Amino acid sequence: MSVKVREIFSSIQGEGIYVGRRQIFVRFVKCNMDCDYCDTPHKKEAKFCTVAGNKKILKNADDVANEIKNLYTKDIFSVSLTGGEPLLYTSLIKQICKGLNIPLYLETNSTLPERAYEIKNLITYAACGIKLNYPKFYNDSLKTIEILNDYLKSGNLFVKVVITKDVDVGQIEGLTRDIKNIGDLPLVLQPQTGIKWDNTYKNTLLTMSEMAGNFLKDVRIIPQLHKFLGFE
Ligand code: SF4
Repeated sequence: MSVKVREIFSSIQGEGIYVGRRQIFVRFVKCNMDCDYCDTPHKKEAKFCTVAGNKKILKNADDVANEIKNLYTKDIFSVSLTGGEPLLYTSLIKQICKGLNIPLYLETNSTLPERAYEIKNLITYAACGIKLNYPKFYNDSLKTIEILNDYLKSGNLFVKVVITKDVDVGQIEGLTRDIKNIGDLPLVLQPQTGIKWDNTYKNTLLTMSEMAGNFLKDVRIIPQLHKFLGFE
């Protein structure tokens, strides 16, 4: 049987409004997108699951749940379902969470609204990425955000957009208007890791933040902090 979970490990959240919170990360293999800036090893199915640095064969959802429980410490805020794209594995997620009593935090590219609908009741927190460089996914992304926003408690969901050099202020204006129609959700502008923060880029980030602030109350510019700190 191929292994759908590539890694399980305990670390800190390095992105978005929960930055710094301790989490157990469950990284699923594969993604339905192929972003240029992708920095996660999701592309191939693995022969093993790496659990806290050790290669293991996990045969089923119970094995995954047991490894999560073994890594649990009292400072754990939630279990991050990440990838790749975790919504490709909704059946597996349903089985894993049967054996768990820890809140689930979904990190999704937001392109699979039907899948989000399937597990909406199981999720406590959601980080909804939106890829402005891929307009064909835009409406599905808004739909996913709307579905999760209807089910999650206020403040438990945020939208994250990676600011590549191709994203412009007009796109941020359109996005923030559309988010506002769903709800006054926190928006994180995440600078692309590895991009040089020259004055032009910094000014663009600030202009985008100002634009977004015309529509949403909580707008933040947050880079991937775990990379700076040397965490996984
Ligand atoms: S959606 Fe995320 S995991 Fe998938 S290719 Fe893009 S950056 Fe990588």
